[in-house]
Amino acid sequence: MRRGTPRARTGTDRPDALGCDTDRARADGTGDRQPDRRRNRGTTRGEDRRLNEFTIVATPDGRAAITGDLDMIIGEKLIAAINSLAQPRPEPDGSPDTRTRGQQRADALEQILDAAATADSRRVTPPKAHLTLTIPVDTPDLASLTWLGPISQATAKMLACDAGITEIIIDANRAPLDMGYEQRLFTPHQRTAITTRDRCCIKCGGPAAWSHIHHMIHWHDGGPTDLDNGCLLCPSCHAHVHAHGWDIVIGIDRHPWLIPPTTIDPHRTPLPAHNRRTMHLDETAA
Ligand SMILES: [Zn+2]
Ligand SMILES: [Zn+2]
Repeated sequence: MRRGTPRARTGTDRPDALGCDTDRARADGTGDRQPDRRRNRGTTRGEDRRLNEFTIVATPDGRAAITGDLDMIIGEKLIAAINSLAQPRPEPDGSPDTRTRGQQRADALEQILDAAATADSRRVTPPKAHLTLTIPVDTPDLASLTWLGPISQATAKMLACDAGITEIIIDANRAPLDMGYEQRLFTPHQRTAITTRDRCCIKCGGPAAWSHIHHMIHWHDGGPTDLDNGCLLCPSCHAHVHAHGWDIVIGIDRHPWLIPPTTIDPHRTPLPAHNRRTMHLDETAA
């Protein structure tokens, strides 16, 4: 039951994200949780990274004006991180926090940036924003994020690969039953071994330190968490692989190979990992 793959739902029993912004989105129609099935492989408009916008503009008075339109995974990470740090802080004399909610969120953003700047870049995998996925025990395909709500099967699979996600199984009364499988995540030793083999994102060559470890045969489909079933993908390529029908297999050379969707290559000819792009199938078969 717990390995059922979540699909989108339309429930809205969540706290509002960062004030009443989600209410405003629903009111103008942009927050409609009905899945838009024009996307590939069942992902929704909310999950479409191609629609993302993020700008920081220096204003004439020397400030920075930020605007953005983010997919629900980046948005969920941002909201979870800001909310975890933007808590009211009593003054030294015990009186209430005098900062506005906006000022509390701005202070939280600075803490996040400072933490990112001081992260130990020698670590194989830096800490990731932590997400919580709630899965009803009787309908495991109706999974939902805390702040931004229902997610599609494709996104649930991507999150379960490597993101710092806690799967909470709930009963009909929303009482927690289980916290998901520990063995879903690769161990630090496995991450080191896979990083030694792949060196970088196998699709685009992005840095290993930023990359997720993708299950080639998905964990929800019974794929094991072992070296021959894991490969490095940066967050952008990871989302793309799940959303657009790429397959990744381990070759006889014990290295991962990318198989494009038919929309890119009708013959689906395997491509070597980025750090082995100069090789060909004939050489590896020799
Ligand atoms: Zn990449
Ligand atoms: Zn994955």
